[in-house]
Amino acid sequence: MTPGISIPPKNIALAVDTGGTNTRIGLLELDKGLICHASYPTALFRDKNQMAETLYDGFCGMLDSNDINYHRIAGIGHGSTGVPDFKNVTILDSPNLPKSLLPLDLAPRIAKKFKLKTMGVGNDCSFAALGEDRFGYEPKGVEPLPEGSRRSPGAFRISPYQIFPKKFEKKCFYTVSTGENGGFTDKGVIMGRPELGHGYGGDEDFFGRTAECGPNCKGVGHVEAVHSGSALGKMILREYKFLPSNVRNSQVWTQIDTMVSKGMNEEKLLKAIPKTLYDCARSGDPLALLISDWHNEKTCRVIGNILASGYQPQIIAFGGSVTKSMDFSMVPAFRMFAESVARGSKDYTGFQPEAQLPALAVCRDYGENHILLGAGAFVFNKLYGAEL
Ligand SMILES: [Zn+2]
Repeated sequence: MTPGISIPPKNIALAVDTGGTNTRIGLLELDKGLICHASYPTALFRDKNQMAETLYDGFCGMLDSNDINYHRIAGIGHGSTGVPDFKNVTILDSPNLPKSLLPLDLAPRIAKKFKLKTMGVGNDCSFAALGEDRFGYEPKGVEPLPEGSRRSPGAFRISPYQIFPKKFEKKCFYTVSTGENGGFTDKGVIMGRPELGHGYGGDEDFFGRTAECGPNCKGVGHVEAVHSGSALGKMILREYKFLPSNVRNSQVWTQIDTMVSKGMNEEKLLKAIPKTLYDCARSGDPLALLISDWHNEKTCRVIGNILASGYQPQIIAFGGSVTKSMDFSMVPAFRMFAESVARGSKDYTGFQPEAQLPALAVCRDYGENHILLGAGAFVFNKLYGAEL
């Protein structure tokens, strides 16, 4: 926010983030960002009408408890998994949302109740990139790469070049979570959205088995199938099942033994395994360290795929559950990338000139709130421009 410019009276945005598991809502204040949020299981909603009613009640509760006059509401933004129809402010289709909710015209339904004119819909990753653009960290300068040390998100930035711009105009947000994908912005405007998660990542998992995307894609060789959190869970659990119990000579296997003996079901195991892997790596388990090194090489490939997309971001900000173990899942990968560039290798950069290589960072709060931040940013950008 530029000093001397008064804050417009309409300085609150309503934000919605609909995902396969949870639907989240939040309030954003123009110069503060997210001030409160709430989450509902998406399975709670039977139909669009009931969903809009429930979220409207949720917003009213938040506005009232924060003592916010409804006249201050600038508009509503809706970020979602799936295919957006910008003209009708609707999510047309999504493999992750229940069929009974599709096509999902949440923003117009809630806008009508609050009598709002400004509204928008967007793909989750594109909105997350917009959230990073308006409410992410500002560049602080180049920090040396610490040897194996843990760092808080955003405090860590590296760049193959030594001069940072005052503000990054071109940004990429990339999530490594259940699935993975990226979004791009240029001066606060969302750019195209290539399906980066389904770019090339290698045909085989760490154990040499064929890696295939989930039921909606089924492609072999896609980065999501070897690099995402669910890919890590799947490949480790699959190998665990193949291994005779007398050769389970790694903490990774004994930790899974313990979880299985506690009666944890497959779904929960898949979710728990990535964190277990990095806990084992942290305590020096050789197999866990090998797997995390292998995963870091894939992260370098991801950076390469982003560079090859042609959008030339000045910064790539990583988010998602896997980045929560950033001391093993991100920082060493950034170092691996920088060392490769320093050696003059083109393995990850192709013909990209060194001067145009992006800074690398981990998002504030691991990108957990970035879709809400982006939904609010969309409203503020539309009304006041990306600069205010
Ligand atoms: Zn795929």
